[in-house]
Amino acid sequence: MTNVTIITGGSRGIGAATARRLAHTGHHIALGYRRNHTAADTVVADLRATGVRAIAVPADTRDPDQVTALFDAAADLGTLTGLVNNAGITSPIGPFTDLDPDDLRRVVDVNLIGYVLCAQQAARRMGDGAAIVNLSSVAATLGSPGEYVHYAAVKAATDTLTIGLAKELAPRGIRVNAVAPGIIRTEIHALSGQPDRPERAASRIPLGRPGEPDEVAAAIAWLLSPDASYTTGTILRVGGGL
Ligand code: NAP
Repeated sequence: MTNVTIITGGSRGIGAATARRLAHTGHHIALGYRRNHTAADTVVADLRATGVRAIAVPADTRDPDQVTALFDAAADLGTLTGLVNNAGITSPIGPFTDLDPDDLRRVVDVNLIGYVLCAQQAARRMGDGAAIVNLSSVAATLGSPGEYVHYAAVKAATDTLTIGLAKELAPRGIRVNAVAPGIIRTEIHALSGQPDRPERAASRIPLGRPGEPDEVAAAIAWLLSPDASYTTGTILRVGGGL
């Protein structure tokens, strides 16, 4: 079977690591991103160097038309077999009482509305044997007090989306799972105002260190693979014990 996989937010971090790992197992990749063209082009060059077909498509996942354009562009690579719903943001770390409503809306728009729009396009186009992986977070069950309770709540919604869609799409042979990373070394922490958060948090992580993007990519790749053929509706924690 030829694998054609869309990865949203693939220009860096967990999305880029997933693209690189999937390319090594022969997936053709459509990489979505928001605005960092140079970073996306660099990842695509690395993917093509492995011999697969790869394209980068600027697509803000909050916008239904841009999401449709991303899926249309991916159709040129072949029949869609995988979606990694990964494009996500946090907002400035801080107490709940200081939460700016604009930051709240951005987090809901990207991490929930964006996921729903992409999953809907995927569900319309996918057939038997295809799979969706949603990026959740350990925050969904820990709650992130004092940091971003609203983000944690939205990630819990991702888990519910995963469970419901898994059941709705199972009769069509489409599997839906989530990966819930712990604290992973990516640029997301700089954007939330604490670039050194992974190192600072190390002492409260049972395995004693933050995770690397490729350690999350490994779980995503497994869930997309035929090895996970009987796994659907699962939220796989990749948090070093968190
Ligand atoms: P990251 O390094 O900050 O990368 C985010 C990616 O999403 C970038 O490619 C970015 O594109 C893209 N993006 C952001 N907003 C977008 C939008 N509106 N439309 C389309 N693309 C958009 O993030 P990450 O740490 O790899 O996180 C990936 C996922 O894992 C997220 O869902 C996050 O919530 C989740 N997660 C991360 C951690 C962690 O510790 N890192 C922990 C738990 C869960 P541009 O570069 O073009 O802006």
